[in-house]
Amino acid sequence: MPSFELVALGCGGGPGEHNLSSYLLKRYDAHWSEGALALEAGSGIGALNKLLNDQPDLFGCPQVKNDGPSPCTAGEVYSWIKCFLLSHAHLDHISGLALTASTLGGNRTVFGARRCLENVENLFSGQLWPRLASWSDDDSIPLKLRELHNDAKYHPLFPGVSVRTMPLSHGRYDGERTYHSSAFFIKHESRGREFLFFGDVEPDSIATEPHTRDVWRAAALKIPNTLDTLFIECSYPSGTPDDMLYGHLNPEHLVAELTALAAEVVDARTRTREPNSSQEWDSDEEPVHARKRQRRDSAATPTLRGVLAGLKVYVIHCKDDVKGAYTDPINRVIASQVRALVEAEDLGAEIIGVEQGMKILI
Ligand SMILES: [Zn+2]
Ligand SMILES: [Zn+2]
Repeated sequence: MPSFELVALGCGGGPGEHNLSSYLLKRYDAHWSEGALALEAGSGIGALNKLLNDQPDLFGCPQVKNDGPSPCTAGEVYSWIKCFLLSHAHLDHISGLALTASTLGGNRTVFGARRCLENVENLFSGQLWPRLASWSDDDSIPLKLRELHNDAKYHPLFPGVSVRTMPLSHGRYDGERTYHSSAFFIKHESRGREFLFFGDVEPDSIATEPHTRDVWRAAALKIPNTLDTLFIECSYPSGTPDDMLYGHLNPEHLVAELTALAAEVVDARTRTREPNSSQEWDSDEEPVHARKRQRRDSAATPTLRGVLAGLKVYVIHCKDDVKGAYTDPINRVIASQVRALVEAEDLGAEIIGVEQGMKILI
């Protein structure tokens, strides 16, 4: 039985405002009306309205009532959101949150790293947008901000679901300062199963502050038994030069990252077979130690063939092809480019391009 059900309310990377990062998530063993999590909040009510027009039963509707079938409205489904989980506060990830905040009613929790939530707080300063978010419990405003720490622990999001947060690099601002995003390990507590969701991310090979290797290391030993699903961005198509990536991935860099993951999986499996060789790494380990270890490993690179078998990689956040360079939709173009590279490396992972409105069982 699956652990989670996820609907892609929006899965693009802009600039089209109709399909921005926004995923609704629930435990598979509960109904949507019992509580949903919004993983990112780019597209909101407008996109939901359109999806429900096309697929009225996407969220288990229509429900049978006294007077017969009655499809759920977008407002009704959106009201089931108990909390928001944000990787960073770029507008394509929070615009739906802003536009719906005053109509949600009741209290909702917004989870994220400190810097992300400070930016959300600035958005709701009363200038750009009314003051609808606060750190305070006492404040009678709809959005409560709750910081998630990079402490290698899982913290409850809503009943039965918890999250571990790790930082990512997502380009630079003010010259050379790293702009941070987050990766989330989202866990179904009673089943012990989880999936890994990346916010916007740049490759370690470009980042001045590389973080993806730490995330791969934290995931490695769980693949594929308790973690078989990964969501990761690939904003631009093959051949996009590094100086045009602006803190994002293209297929070449994504496959280099998946190769780094495969190497970590091999290393983790080797270490569990040889318990005296080294203890499992923690993400809090000094990066310099990690880098030394990395160099030592590269002296005897094992084969990575088939190492990621059983892992589903969902490709998200493809930027719209506004110039019309491709005849096929850009998300399919990019996913097929990633798939071809993964098959050439024979890593074994399954590559799936996410479509808006797609229902994914995890
Ligand atoms: Zn984005
Ligand atoms: Zn971003």
